[in-house]
Amino acid sequence: MTHARKPLVLGNWKMNGGYDANSELINGILAGMKTAQTKTQVDLGVCVPHVYLSHAEDLCYGTDLLLAAQDCSAHVKGAYTGEVSAPMLTEFGVQLVLVGHSERREYHRESPQTVALKAQQALLAGLAPVVCIGETLAQREADQTLPILTEQLQAVFDVLGAADLSRCIIAYEPVWAIGTGKTASPEQAQAVHAALRQWLAGKGANAASMRLLYGGSMKPDNAGALIAQPDIDGGLIGGAALKASDFLAIAAAVAANPV
Ligand code: PEP
Repeated sequence: MTHARKPLVLGNWKMNGGYDANSELINGILAGMKTAQTKTQVDLGVCVPHVYLSHAEDLCYGTDLLLAAQDCSAHVKGAYTGEVSAPMLTEFGVQLVLVGHSERREYHRESPQTVALKAQQALLAGLAPVVCIGETLAQREADQTLPILTEQLQAVFDVLGAADLSRCIIAYEPVWAIGTGKTASPEQAQAVHAALRQWLAGKGANAASMRLLYGGSMKPDNAGALIAQPDIDGGLIGGAALKASDFLAIAAAVAANPV
């Protein structure tokens, strides 16, 4: 299978880790990257909790490991207690930022419009937004998968327009597959990715060059089959990103797929 786009494997640490554990994890990934063939074939990155970004920046400095944040504010500055703006993230070497992860949509009531404004702030600051979208099990069972996903993307299109939407990375994460051990089958995931790419093209976005990641219980043993699908350009990894050997094994499975 041929991939026109360089795959990206991004670890989402969520609210896990600590100063020492992060050093061990990042150093473990870096050691593996030195020896593995992943460096030129796959982009690798870690989404670190905000308070550890400075520490992670020191550890990643001068390496190919990309530094990412898990969220940014929909505002550029001001009276938004507890929030962190996209320009602030850039001061710590951050290159990518997740927006609209399903846990933020659910637990923090983030609307599609808020997610879109976050993506806009990220782009204005020079960060690559990783826009997470996904359907719940009930929505899938009601045949609402594509309407839900395109509604989430439409809100981003409405704010950004086609050219800036093309600068986003999209992560398709079925909510029912996140942290549950249930994975979308490669065929299920491919069908959604292909439909999303078609939708993006229909909106005038540069769909052929956009990276569409899959996320949801991606592990070393299923990563190869998922990445072999023509429209899956990498993974957003939760649980398996907390162990350097698993994360590297996923990266290796992705790298093994002919580019
Ligand atoms: C995630 O949180 O983005 C995720 C995909 O988690 P997990 O891999 O644990 O399902």
